[in-house]
Amino acid sequence: MDNDCIFCKIAGKTIPAKTVFENDELVAFNDINPQAPVHVLIIPKKHIETLNDLSGRDAEIAGKMLMAAKEIAWDLGISKDGYRVVMNCGRSAGQEVFHLHAHLLGGRKFTWPPG
Ligand code: 5GP
Ligand code: ZN
Repeated sequence: MDNDCIFCKIAGKTIPAKTVFENDELVAFNDINPQAPVHVLIIPKKHIETLNDLSGRDAEIAGKMLMAAKEIAWDLGISKDGYRVVMNCGRSAGQEVFHLHAHLLGGRKFTWPPG
């Protein structure tokens, strides 16, 4: 746990969030500034800053984040129409919170390429 990290605080429940999924390793909650009708953030409880910092030992966590995205998409009814899973790595990609997270976005049509 990083005491200055907002997502560690959400994982530790010292900052509230609208949780949609949780297990021993992961928590998923609604984004505070949603960019789509469904906008969920999936995070490991372990503090990992960026995808660059993901070690081989954590590979299983990354796989579990994707599995959680799939399951949450199903639970929230966006599986059939489609959804987007995004991980911003570093400042050029727009990463603002330096605790690894996947965005699960759905409920509207998205364009490609992203901005
Ligand atoms: P990034 O730009 O780092 O990929 O995404 C960070 C996301 O975290 C943003 O979409 C932002 O709206 C969201 N966010 C930042 N602070 C909070 C917070 O305190 N609570 C929640 N639920 N989301 C947050
Ligand atoms: Zn953290």
